[in-house]
Amino acid sequence: MKLITTHLNADFDSLASMIAASKLYPGAIMAFPGSWGDSIRRFMASPYYSWKLTKPQEVDLNQVTHLIMVDTKLASRIGPFSQLIASNPALKIDIYDHHPPQPDDLKGEIEEVRPAGATVTILTRLIKERAIPLTANEATAMIMGICEDTGFFSFPTTSSEDLEAAAYLLRCGADLNIASHFLKEELTLEQFEFLNDLLRSSERYRIRGAEVFIAILYKDKYMSELGTVVQRFMDMLKIDIFFALVKIGTHSSLIARSRFKGVDVGAVAGEFGGGGHPSAASASLRGMSLLEAREKLLSLLSEELSQMEEEVSAPSFSAEGEIITRNPTLPLFQNLTSPMREQLPAELFAIIETISQTADVVPINAFLVGGFVRDLLLKIENVDLDVVVEGDGIQFAKTLAQKVEGSSKGFPQFHTAVVMFPQGFKVDIASARTEFYEVPAALPVVQESSLRADLYRRDFTFNALAVRLNKPHFGELIDYFGGRRDLDEGIIRVLHNLSFIEDPTRLLRAIRFQQRFQFQMEGNTRKLLREAVEKGILNLLSGTRLMNELRLIFEEEHPAVAIQTMAEFDIIKFIHPHITYDKTMGRISDNIEKVISWYNLLYREPEPKLWLIYLMGLFEGLSTSERQEGAERLNLPPKESKTLTAYPEEMTVIITKLSRGKEAKPSQIYSLLHRCRLEVLLYTMAKAEHEAVKQAISLCLRHLSQVKLHISGDDLLKLGCSPGPLFNKILRKILLAKLDGRVSTREEEVEMAKKMIK
Ligand code: ATP
Repeated sequence: MKLITTHLNADFDSLASMIAASKLYPGAIMAFPGSWGDSIRRFMASPYYSWKLTKPQEVDLNQVTHLIMVDTKLASRIGPFSQLIASNPALKIDIYDHHPPQPDDLKGEIEEVRPAGATVTILTRLIKERAIPLTANEATAMIMGICEDTGFFSFPTTSSEDLEAAAYLLRCGADLNIASHFLKEELTLEQFEFLNDLLRSSERYRIRGAEVFIAILYKDKYMSELGTVVQRFMDMLKIDIFFALVKIGTHSSLIARSRFKGVDVGAVAGEFGGGGHPSAASASLRGMSLLEAREKLLSLLSEELSQMEEEVSAPSFSAEGEIITRNPTLPLFQNLTSPMREQLPAELFAIIETISQTADVVPINAFLVGGFVRDLLLKIENVDLDVVVEGDGIQFAKTLAQKVEGSSKGFPQFHTAVVMFPQGFKVDIASARTEFYEVPAALPVVQESSLRADLYRRDFTFNALAVRLNKPHFGELIDYFGGRRDLDEGIIRVLHNLSFIEDPTRLLRAIRFQQRFQFQMEGNTRKLLREAVEKGILNLLSGTRLMNELRLIFEEEHPAVAIQTMAEFDIIKFIHPHITYDKTMGRISDNIEKVISWYNLLYREPEPKLWLIYLMGLFEGLSTSERQEGAERLNLPPKESKTLTAYPEEMTVIITKLSRGKEAKPSQIYSLLHRCRLEVLLYTMAKAEHEAVKQAISLCLRHLSQVKLHISGDDLLKLGCSPGPLFNKILRKILLAKLDGRVSTREEEVEMAKKMIK
């Protein structure tokens, strides 16, 4: 038996090299000798991972005759497998590694050892030379090893061989988006707090053509890698010119960054006695306070941008005298207490205050999140409160329910709960969590963690906003990902490049929000959406989830626009590949919208299933069996499936009979239509070109279907008629006569019944 292994504490290069080695040694088993990191764990839990790793304790060492070591050549680094070397002198060993030689290195029969940036680079070359085909997933997993060990080709150890290997893997379909997603380093807690400080303390200045951000910070201890955090901050908010004025203990400094040609921060820092490049510079600030430094900075910038007209507005102050912004149109740091008080029903605001008080007493950090915050900023009514707490959400829900004498229900598998208030409001509570993934063959793993990680897992920047509920920060807007700005600019933007792949329902959510708010999709998001569609990602969505998203789209105010957008993005084919969107379909969707608004004005029960009507429009050009397939794809219940399969025939009968030229009598209209499903009638109205058809259906829905007889079965009994099929026949005949105006009063109905019974 052949065994492929690597070193303890496996990293991406180890895993990538093992996967590559498995291509060179088909049939070999793979086993990590020890532990592996969180990023690998995440990758292994994702849909991109499909390799089998044997647990070390399940490897029968007596059976191993051939050991393939990758990314190490030391017996001391392969954990339990080092026993093989001691116990089996006939063991064949092959070694693939990029580490420098060491005295204890093992000797291998095959030794492919040289100083490439990554071990998988060496193996990729062999695979290429032997023309062994690679799948896109294999190539992606392999390129992750190169990216990690070369710091995305930036470490000095990166060799031309690494670049060649990466180029080859890209040709085999490797996806760098996936690689960067799993390799991205998370910030440390300390760095994270600093990032938060930057968000809270930055002010925005607009100087014609240039937007400048300045943060003033007082910290009590030194923090390493300030530059990394500043970079992350600028990326997050798409900032081009940024200055941080930081005082740590007694030492004050200026950190300056610019990606804007008009501002040379090296020159600016030079004026403070420091220096650097046009794009990155720093200076120690001596003999001046941070506020003085800011004023000097502003005047230097005005000079630097001398050709440009300065538009810095005067500072504005909050009630507490704290500087909040110099540009009231888009403050970075905003308190939403007043908008909440002004826009929300008083009862709801009181509930929010109660949640806040409860959170302070527990104590636990609590935040309002998601659509509620988005709609508050858009001034759209939304009373669905979503609360996230940093800690045990279920326990918090119980405490809250007790306090308000309401009730709560927890969902332990998701760490969520719902609290029902006596006033009738319902609040969803979730525990902020970092990870939510399934480890193969284990239960879903959910770990509690911070708000930011929770928000990062959301769909779009404008849905990843939060409002602090704890005092003294009650009402503060938290915007880690620039959602506020996107909301102001009407932009839909995903939080990271794998968003659509991670959850394909977001494709449809993007289209729904685009239509609802008339927002634009940001360029990269649009590109990622197209790529996800091309990859066929929607095929991975279950029928129920796909239908659920479609239903939400069809329940919006203008689904016709969303249907057109779905067509533009080639999404409709995932319902059925033979649906083709054309002008007629567009016109019919428009007509459906009109018919539905007309019907809504009638205030009639029952409410139609809007999604069914729009699906009829989409299914129009399909054959009967294709419609059946479509209904199966969407996992529809038998009744709806039957309607979708049969409606064209029903509709043809209606249209043919009602457009014959001769005006139909009300009784004839009723007889023809009253057994049809409301959705079929409304669709036929939208579809029919003949005015007579529309008018007949309208008459039936407005009037004929409401007509009731004065008499009932009891009256027939009294007239001596015995119950049976005749009963209904008589009542129906009288109803038809009533519809045509041949009877109207109770007496006339009784008279007609008597005649018929005779
Ligand atoms: P609507 O106004 O249509 O109710 P919503 O965004 O307010 O939309 P939900 O669909 O209930 O309401 O979602 C609540 C929040 O949960 C969203 O604002 C978003 O932050 C998050 N969310 C919902 N669906 C997803 C998803 N598929 N991926 C990531 N985050 C999601």
